[in-house]
Amino acid sequence: MPEANRFAAVGEMTRNALIKNLSVRFEETHLPQPGDDARALVCGLLDLDLTDLVLAGKEAVSEDDVARILSAAERRCRHEPVHRILGWRAFYGRDFLLSPETLEPRPDTETLVSAVLPLSRSVIAARGRCRVIDLGTGTGAIGLTLLCELPQAEGTGTDISQDALATARRNAQRLGVSDRFRTICGNWFDAVEGEYDLVVSNPPYIRHGVIATLDEDVRGFDPVVALDGGVDGLDGYRSIAAGAMSHLAPGGHIAVETGYDQQDAVCGIFQDHHFRCLERITDFGGNDRVLIFSRKPQ
Ligand code: GLN
Repeated sequence: MPEANRFAAVGEMTRNALIKNLSVRFEETHLPQPGDDARALVCGLLDLDLTDLVLAGKEAVSEDDVARILSAAERRCRHEPVHRILGWRAFYGRDFLLSPETLEPRPDTETLVSAVLPLSRSVIAARGRCRVIDLGTGTGAIGLTLLCELPQAEGTGTDISQDALATARRNAQRLGVSDRFRTICGNWFDAVEGEYDLVVSNPPYIRHGVIATLDEDVRGFDPVVALDGGVDGLDGYRSIAAGAMSHLAPGGHIAVETGYDQQDAVCGIFQDHHFRCLERITDFGGNDRVLIFSRKPQ
């Protein structure tokens, strides 16, 4: 039987049996988390949550749904990540649509959001608003989450990809914040005008030479332009630091995500551009992940 039709003869199945079927297949393909992937695919494609599986695992799944899920499982076996298959991923409790030119938002990046919320709230308390710019916004995960959490904030998302910006605008619409979100197409600050109270970014920070060694799931499906930070992985930080002085409002802050081993180098880059590091923050895994900067006092 041809590979794609391996499951074609399967009819109606219970949810539990379907998950078992997928887990076995994923295990045979040596995927690292076969059970988790099976549950995530079934829940995502049937619009269920995990409780629906625990409480109603014996419910039947229609033949059409079984066929749909099995063809999605074939894609997973070819290393396409679960959320690429589903077309969305949750970030900070909200779902974000993905597209070919957007990075899949990662839980590590939630650390950046949590870190800047108190800063943004103090700006709002003092000035009644907070102007946020998310450089390299991708799906809009960081900037749009801030707009959802802070009704008085206004946001701009920049990206070099029009496809990414269209996706960010769709996400803004779905999240009900499109009246406070605008997009600019350009490289870092190149096409940006005006001042912002908060500059946030999760720039590409992987060293160029390491890209080829990444997991197939990442290398094959996240856009390389969203990963590749140049020879030393730090090109994005250099551009952000160089442009920030002209676009940071007095008393404003910059928050960037970094690789676990890049914080000293990134601090050095920002210091050379007259910023000082206020905070170094680790993610849930205990890795250095976020840096916050302000202008150096004159
Ligand atoms: N800002 C987006 C995110 O954090 C995209 C980042 C990127 O493409 N490097 O998910």
